[in-house]
Order: sequence, then structure tokens, then C-alpha cells
Amino acid sequence: MNIIEKDLVIVGAGPAGLAAALYGARNRYSTVALDKFAPGGQINLTDKIENYPGIDSISGADMAMNLYMQAQKFGAEIAMGVEVTELNKLPNDKIEVKTNNETYHAKVVILTPGSSYRNLGVPGEDKFRNAGSGVSYCGPCDAPFFQDKEVIAIGGGNVAVEDALHLAKYCKKVTLIHRRDEFRAEPILVEELLEEAKKGIINIKYNTVVTSINGTDRVQSATLQNVQTKETEEHPCDGVFIFVGAVPNTSFLKGVIDLDESGFIKCNAADLSTSMPGVYVAGDCRVGATMQLATAIGDGVAATIYMKQYIQHHAAKWQ
Ligand SMILES: Cc1cc2nc3c(=O)[nH]c(=O)nc-3n(C[C@H](O)[C@H](O)[C@H](O)COP(=O)(O)OP(=O)(O)OC[C@H]3O[C@@H](n4cnc5c(N)ncnc54)[C@H](O)[C@@H]3O)c2cc1C
Repeated sequence: MNIIEKDLVIVGAGPAGLAAALYGARNRYSTVALDKFAPGGQINLTDKIENYPGIDSISGADMAMNLYMQAQKFGAEIAMGVEVTELNKLPNDKIEVKTNNETYHAKVVILTPGSSYRNLGVPGEDKFRNAGSGVSYCGPCDAPFFQDKEVIAIGGGNVAVEDALHLAKYCKKVTLIHRRDEFRAEPILVEELLEEAKKGIINIKYNTVVTSINGTDRVQSATLQNVQTKETEEHPCDGVFIFVGAVPNTSFLKGVIDLDESGFIKCNAADLSTSMPGVYVAGDCRVGATMQLATAIGDGVAATIYMKQYIQHHAAKWQ
């Protein structure tokens, strides 16, 4: 079997992975970022990014390309169509990274496999999936695109309540749909929500689900159903924000790296190290991730700075 030796192997070439690749290569580490699809990760799915500090507005595709080109310019290798399937600690303290293709031996690994927003799974969701067409999964990212518009938000956890409050700063009307009769979110957030609802912008519909998202070129309405009476109504709206959770892409790490009950990678917040020495984490896949482009990139940079000490500490052994 052909083994490829690298200083740094990065799992995933989304924003966190590409930022780590840039810093790794600029530090003169032999660096490869492996991605099962194309570089750029989730930002490839967005039309327009307007919340990245210092950049007024950029398309997701352009941002992905910029990150990719910049990492390559400094010598990072970005391998596409390569899925990481297994990690193992080797007796010499290096880490074996098995893929559908080659096997790598790395001094350090940075895990950046990201996470995927949980789908609602109703008709119309795929057709209008992006803020330009009316379906979004991220309040802080897309609220300004719905200035003075009417939207519905779906969910009952912290993110749903926080993001509904955020949407109310921009939208004419926010209808928060929750399938149960009380929220799962922290009581303090729920109190704030109920207080805001008194002002008339936020309207809450309990015991209700969305059964379809409707429109021709973009979202024009959603069909709502009361789970108790089974009555349905067509609710006119310009956008649908789906806040029903995120699933980290970490199933290949189960039993190898410590994960929380939802599958997010546990780490030491002080240096982003994981339970396996020499393995660091960055971006949306980690416990405490804020699911933003800027923070994913910041994590990728930070992990690459923190890992230096680990490499220096083992330098004599690996000579
Ligand atoms: C539609 C949409 C719009 C968004 N808009 C904004 C916005 O406007 N502003 C903002 O701040 N944020 C936005 N976000 C969120 C932002 O895109 C994410 O926070 C960011 O992409 C997270 O980066 P990441 O590198 O951690 O993970 P990801 O972007 O998810 O990248 C992970 C990469 O790892 C790869 N991968 C996963 N598992 C493996 C494996 N086993 N082997 C190899 N490769 C693997 C994936 O293919 C992927 O390319 C948006 C997200 C979506 C979905």
C-alpha cells in the first residue's frame, strides 16, 4: 500500500479547512486538504455573503474560489473527491488517515468536515433552497435580504427563538411555527420572545407544522397544518427560515474521537485539540460552533497556530 507522508492533513476543504490549509502552507508545513466533494463547503450553496467582515458583498462561489486559490498559491494541496473514512493513532505518534483512495500518515490532523442543516423534508424546500428564492437556514446570514418582508420561521429550540428575534429587527412580520405547545429553548429566551410578540411583529403558532412551501419563481406562501385539529391554511409569506437543527458530518469518527450526544466533536476550547493527541478541530463540526463563515475561518486559522507547539514538541522523535 502506498503511504503518503505529510506534516498536516486537513479533513474537509470548506472555509475552515481552506483557512487551515493557507496557514499550514504559509508555515512551510507540507499540507493537504482532502474533500469528498469540491472545495468551499457550504458556502457554495449561498448566492450572496454580506456578513463577512471587511467584504461588502461576495457570492458564495467567488468566496470559495478565492479561499481555494489563495491556499494553493502558498503550496497547499487540495485533493477533491477524496473521502476520509478512518483515523488511527500510530505507535510513532503520527496519525493514519485512511480515505477511499490513498492512505496518509500525518504529524497533525485538523478535522473540518462541517455539518449539514437538518431539512424539513416538505415539498418546495428543495426548489426554493437559497435565500434568493426564499428558503434559508440561517437568520444572521440572510435576515437583511428580507427587509420589510413577511417570513415564517420554523423550530422550537434556542436557534429558532434567537433567530426569530433577529428576523424581527428586519422583517415586517415573523410568524414562528412550532409543532409543540411549548418551546424547548431556554426560559430566558422564551420570555424575551413572548415580550417581543406583544409588539406585534412576531406572531407565534403552536401545535402547527409546515406541510409545503409554495410559489412559482420564489416563495409566495406556506401551507400550515394544526397538528391537533388537522385543519390546514395557506399562509402568504416572502420567505421561510428553517431552524430545525444541524447534523455534523462526523459518523466516521464515532468511537475514535470524543463526540457529544449530537455528534459534534468535543474539544479543548483553549487550543481546539480533541481527545486524540495531534488531532485538532475547526468550524461547524465542533461543539460550540456558531455556524458562521467568519468563525469557521477563524477556527481554521487558530487550529493551525495551536498545532505548531505539538509539532515542535515531537520534532526530535520525527527527525
Ligand atoms: C445555504 C447556506 C447559506 C449560508 N450563508 C452564510 C452567510 O451568508 N454567512 C455566513 O457567515 N455563513 C453562511 N452559511 C454558513 C457557512 O457556510 C458555514 O458556517 C461554513 O461553511 C462552515 O465551514 P466549515 O468549513 O466548518 O464546514 P463546511 O462548509 O460544511 O465544509 C466542510 C467540508 O468538509 C467536507 N467533508 C465532510 N466530511 C468529509 C469526509 N469524511 N472526507 C472528506 N471531506 C469531507 C465537505 O464536503 C465540505 O466541503 C451558510 C450556509 C448555507 C448552507
